[in-house]
Amino acid sequence: MRLKPTYIIEKVTDMNLDELKAEGITSLFFDLDNTLMPPKSGKLQDDIAQWLEVVRQTFQVVVLSNNPHFDYMEKVAEELSCPVYAKARKPNTSIALKALKEHNILPQETAMIGDRPLTDIWVGQRLKLITVLVDPLMKHHESQIIKFLRKMERLTVTPAQRSFSSFK
Ligand SMILES: [Mg+2]
Repeated sequence: MRLKPTYIIEKVTDMNLDELKAEGITSLFFDLDNTLMPPKSGKLQDDIAQWLEVVRQTFQVVVLSNNPHFDYMEKVAEELSCPVYAKARKPNTSIALKALKEHNILPQETAMIGDRPLTDIWVGQRLKLITVLVDPLMKHHESQIIKFLRKMERLTVTPAQRSFSSFK
């Protein structure tokens, strides 16, 4: 199995929203930990918070997280004011499919954005969504062993199929 993210970028804020819109994307499914927020922080960083406000003007935002802590995820849903699916069991597709169904979203108008190839990109690929792989937000704060494991995981990834054009 090869994982082929449609796009590989550094940070969510590097996505070209105009380009996604032009491709017919109406909904963005985000992973939470290390994609939108540092793990356990429960808070958005300022730049991402501001960017999300812009995103929301055009796209439906949904969070799909494997985080099983429902209390924490409830707080996150409040902070983000968007639908949040906890314990999403990515790369299993059942919760992602449920999210598509509950919000009347078609797979072909959805992009899945996340930092983990084996969960976020894989679930997106299985559902034939556009996928966007980002670097983990807290990569500079991770232990050597985690850095090593991430490197191993990234070996399953072939280069991005497309790149965003430079205009933003
Ligand atoms: Mg993550």
